[in-house]
Amino acid sequence: MLEIINLRAEIDGKPILNGVNLTADTGKFHAIMGPNGSGKSTLSALICGNDRATVTEGDIRFKGKSILTLAPEERAAEGLFLCFQYPPEIPGVPGLTFLKTAVNAVRKARGQTELDTLAFSKAVKEKAALLKIPTEMLKRAVNNGFSGGEKKRNEILQALLLEPKFLILDEPDSGLDIDALKIASEGVNLLRSQGAGALIITHYQRLLEYIEPDTVHILVKGKIVKSGGKELASLLEKSGYAEYETASAA
Ligand code: ADP
Ligand code: MG
Repeated sequence: MLEIINLRAEIDGKPILNGVNLTADTGKFHAIMGPNGSGKSTLSALICGNDRATVTEGDIRFKGKSILTLAPEERAAEGLFLCFQYPPEIPGVPGLTFLKTAVNAVRKARGQTELDTLAFSKAVKEKAALLKIPTEMLKRAVNNGFSGGEKKRNEILQALLLEPKFLILDEPDSGLDIDALKIASEGVNLLRSQGAGALIITHYQRLLEYIEPDTVHILVKGKIVKSGGKELASLLEKSGYAEYETASAA
């Protein structure tokens, strides 16, 4: 479903990704862990079409075709969804308006019928209830003054409404208390039960107890230095990244 092939990228001439290879099959959950600055957010941004870095070599393929030349909205229409490490605030745009526009743009691009106001309200109410998001919150401008946890839950709500095939979650646990973490994880697991795959970036094993990965990768200095099962995450929790950082410097 998602293939990252020998991906190299740089920012202002500085190499950030140094040959990343990763294949995620349909419905599979992959976790990426790694020290600060190892290129995790850059990798997720490149998959979703944010131009913070320039690809110098390699390819990203989704459902069998290269997506590097597609605009972010075209990638979304194909079924990719990115949760930001720091979700942006959009002053002046009410949450519901934003969600309805996004949902219908994606549905239109996928050749599905657009949701009318009634159908949309019904869908939002149902999914917001799952995530324990009060509807009053959605009448406010997008993420405006929301706490970190509220922003993250709001993103999962977007994901539930957009019905992606593959989610990129960049530190979805940052800023979440335990209850919010459980609720957001349930949202992600619901998408998983509907067949979605995911790439989950996290520093903490705790998240991976709620959203269990099939495979865990360690990214150090823009390269995957080790891949394994979920036991790799527990190991990291105990011993940190030191041994991998030394190995990659050698
Ligand atoms: P991670 O998410 O793993 O912490 P990032 O992908 O955010 O890492 O960053 C990887 C590297 O790219 C870091 O060294 C960071 O300083 C650098 N970087 C990120 N954004 C920029 C930018 N806009 N300009 C210059 N360097 C950047
Ligand atoms: Mg990051």
